[in-house]
Amino acid sequence: MCGTDGPALPAANGGAASRPATRSNPYQPVGDYLSNVGRFQIIESTLREGEQFANAYFDTAIKIKIAKALDEFGVDYIELTSPAASEQSRLDCIEICKLGLKAKILTHVRCDMRDAQLAVETGVDGLDIVIGTSSFLREHSHGKDMVYITKTALEVIEFVKSKGLEVRFSSEDSFRSDLVDLLSLYSAVDKAGVNRVGIADTVGCASPRQVYDLVRTLRGVVSCAIETHFHNDTGCAIANAFCALEAGATHVDTSVLGIGERNGITPLGGLMARMVVTSPEYVESKYKLSMIKEIEDLVAEAVQVNTPFNNPITGFCAFTHKAGIHAKAILNNPSTYEILNPEDFGLTRYVHFASRLTGWNAVKTRVGQLGLTMTDDQVKECTAKIKALADVRPIAIDDADSIIRSFHLSLQNGQNETNAQNGAENAVTA
Ligand SMILES: [Zn+2]
Repeated sequence: MCGTDGPALPAANGGAASRPATRSNPYQPVGDYLSNVGRFQIIESTLREGEQFANAYFDTAIKIKIAKALDEFGVDYIELTSPAASEQSRLDCIEICKLGLKAKILTHVRCDMRDAQLAVETGVDGLDIVIGTSSFLREHSHGKDMVYITKTALEVIEFVKSKGLEVRFSSEDSFRSDLVDLLSLYSAVDKAGVNRVGIADTVGCASPRQVYDLVRTLRGVVSCAIETHFHNDTGCAIANAFCALEAGATHVDTSVLGIGERNGITPLGGLMARMVVTSPEYVESKYKLSMIKEIEDLVAEAVQVNTPFNNPITGFCAFTHKAGIHAKAILNNPSTYEILNPEDFGLTRYVHFASRLTGWNAVKTRVGQLGLTMTDDQVKECTAKIKALADVRPIAIDDADSIIRSFHLSLQNGQNETNAQNGAENAVTA
């Protein structure tokens, strides 16, 4: 029963206005020359990886709506499905390029000259070229060896560069690829002048420490930017993206709500939650955080899913406090139990008071919201009545409110009776 139908509470000491202009941030990582946690870029792939989500079907109109919303939010790049996928995908690519967005438009294509030729004609700013390098994919998917892969990569890269477009070269399933193969391939494409190389945990097998090690090693081999792509099969997608940035990666792939193949990739909103805690000035100055809920709602509706209850920032109880001890502290100072400030996202915190775990401070706040007046002792007595009912059955906010109101009424009646008695006694005395 915790939720958005609970009472909204004022942001007491937690408002943005009360924050000092320059904050010393205890959550900042140890200074590290490799780390890019305060200067990363987002490659938003809802319109590519997200289109691979089981429920996704984006028509042209919804693609345009999503692209415009992501652009207004401030993502650096928007990645689109390969124009080689279908004729409509190609036409949509052309349409979105014509919108004149601030974000650069990329399309994700196989390392194949025909695909690249089709893509450069659509008006995109750059191509994200990908090929599988793991032994699994080399044997069971495309059947090509590393010599062939390197040769084709260099040809496609040269072609894209000759058209004046940005080019990223990525392996697929990087964490199950041979490290020596991977590093020599990346070294070759770096020398050929790619803008970025990409590391992709296509199967979601990597742990944060493995990510840190691989990206750090790669950072010592290439001079170009490093893009990263993490699937969430084992729940590490946000942590892996963060560790990649700490190890020197420069770009993170995201999708709204994390939608993508299987259970998807690093979610845009969840990554923002992580990064705003680490690098508040950078994140708040660059991205319009108050749009996260609106963008997630737009995509959730488009793919017919609900926002998960435990989603960072927008999960329905992300800013709901229930236990009496938490509620008391939150009412005094929200930082006691909140690492994120709901106001930064245009949201409000809730103190849940309709439960057996409630405390009198939460009830006192509710009494005030209902426009009633009680002494602290009276609030404590009323709190005991709420707890007594909540011990018998789950109670709704309405139940708790009616206990408060009838308790208040009985106080007034009692007060009136006392006054009447006093009056009668006075009359007798007189
Ligand atoms: Zn992927």
